[in-house]
Amino acid sequence: MKTLAQLIQGYQRYCTEYCPQHQDLLAQLARGQQPQVLLITCSDSRIEPALIFQSEPGDLFVLRNAGNIVPPYGDRSTAEAGTIEFAVLGLQVRNIVVMGHTQCGAVRALLQLEAVRAQLPCLCQYLQAAARVPALAQVRAADVPPEQQFRLAVYQNVLVQLDNLLTHPAVAAAVARGQLALHGWVYHIETGAIHAYQHSTGRFLPLEQAALEPVHTEWPFDLSAL
Ligand SMILES: [Zn+2]
Repeated sequence: MKTLAQLIQGYQRYCTEYCPQHQDLLAQLARGQQPQVLLITCSDSRIEPALIFQSEPGDLFVLRNAGNIVPPYGDRSTAEAGTIEFAVLGLQVRNIVVMGHTQCGAVRALLQLEAVRAQLPCLCQYLQAAARVPALAQVRAADVPPEQQFRLAVYQNVLVQLDNLLTHPAVAAAVARGQLALHGWVYHIETGAIHAYQHSTGRFLPLEQAALEPVHTEWPFDLSAL
């Protein structure tokens, strides 16, 4: 993994190579941003949105935290609530993608909260927004090995966060007006593949096979269909 000194060398190449070659784009971006997509994903270092989606500066408005958590609306002081509100009302994004990932450390912590609470009290407190996930995963996979239950919890967590997202008034109103579509995806660290949730079938399908079908507005979702 790169050291800070190596990352600074990368920045120097960015200044001498990328910036001169993209002067028009940078000048355009200086006048404002109009991203169409808010991507809510995990802080995990293995998720590189610009690489995965081959995007340019200005394409993605990104909200990241450990576990791609969206606290349910209520506490207006959270970074998540303010960022989501700005994306929807200020930037008027057309899509919100909640993208979880396999091997997510936050979801693993979620499945063993009591064991990690003493060491990571803040993380555990904040993961309460996903407190339903372990029980839901267990219901669906009570008799499967722990690793499979962990994988299922990653998927389940994406649906729970979509559910939480719809408690935010700005999101619910824009979805109801048909101006905003929600999507639930899971990125596979092992292969780079993305699976997308299909509301009509209650399944996650490979993104390239999945119709770009927004999650419907009725909620709570039938999480048992996973
Ligand atoms: Zn993660």
